[in-house]
Amino acid sequence: MTVYDLHSHSTASDGILSPRELAKRAAEQGVNVLALTDHDDLCGLSEARAEAANRGMELVAGVEISITWRNTTVHVVGLRVDPEHEILVQGLRGNREGRALRAQLMAAELEKLGVRDALAGAYTYAGNKDLIGRTHFARYLVEYGLVKDVKTVFKKYLVKGKPGYVHHEWASLADALTWIREAGGLSVLAHPGRYHFGRERMRDLLREFKELGGDAIEVVTGSHTADQVPVFADLAVEFDFLASVGSDFHAPGEGGRELGRLMTLPPRCRPVWEAW
Ligand code: AMP
Ligand code: MN
Ligand code: MN
Ligand code: MN
Repeated sequence: MTVYDLHSHSTASDGILSPRELAKRAAEQGVNVLALTDHDDLCGLSEARAEAANRGMELVAGVEISITWRNTTVHVVGLRVDPEHEILVQGLRGNREGRALRAQLMAAELEKLGVRDALAGAYTYAGNKDLIGRTHFARYLVEYGLVKDVKTVFKKYLVKGKPGYVHHEWASLADALTWIREAGGLSVLAHPGRYHFGRERMRDLLREFKELGGDAIEVVTGSHTADQVPVFADLAVEFDFLASVGSDFHAPGEGGRELGRLMTLPPRCRPVWEAW
């Protein structure tokens, strides 16, 4: 049986392992096909691919794009994209520039709480200085002693309605799907169970994603509970989406699932790799 893990992060975004270390760990965990899907950046792919090749593991070129849909943030994973494609490369650059501006505003908010040097502090955790995110701030806030761990940061700070949160307009769903399609990839709605949408809002998102040419949704993800898997399996079948599987691994011991340690897809789902 081939073990797929089609959602993971390295130091090219907010993961803790370098692309090489990530690929090595995935192979050691028994993964046969790994997608590296860093947030809004493709710069880790060549290093991950080289290590995967050494270990006889297939590496899928991926990316996780931040999107604003109806005033909330949604993530779409692109799989099997051409990392050189100019439209995708340019689009992602726009999201990264937005991240840098948002980071300045976040640091200003944290300063109001008495947290000093949050911008410089967060950047010390960014393996890729061109990609700054909330996780880097969260790790700094743990170091600073404000909270005991990253998980707690995302309960008390940096999230909507809590101190340190800054709203940001990411790419539109339509734009992100265009970039992925132009770059030859398949688009996958990431961790749909994480958005805390009601039934109608979720169906609106799935309908719009379908109309815009979305290909798949994550049914099995480190973000879904065992109960959520059949719910999203049913939605995948109903909306005729392919189904994807990914851990969303960021770091050993930072919550989330281990690479490759995932439930199997319910048999009623058509796996996304059938379209490859
Ligand atoms: P950003 O894209 O910079 O807004 O940051 C989003 C990232 O924050 C996600 O990809 C996760 O890595 C991290 N994150 C969000 N919520 C949580 C949470 N509750 N626990 C741990 N990490 C989280
Ligand atoms: Mn992340
Ligand atoms: Mn995500
Ligand atoms: Mn992710």
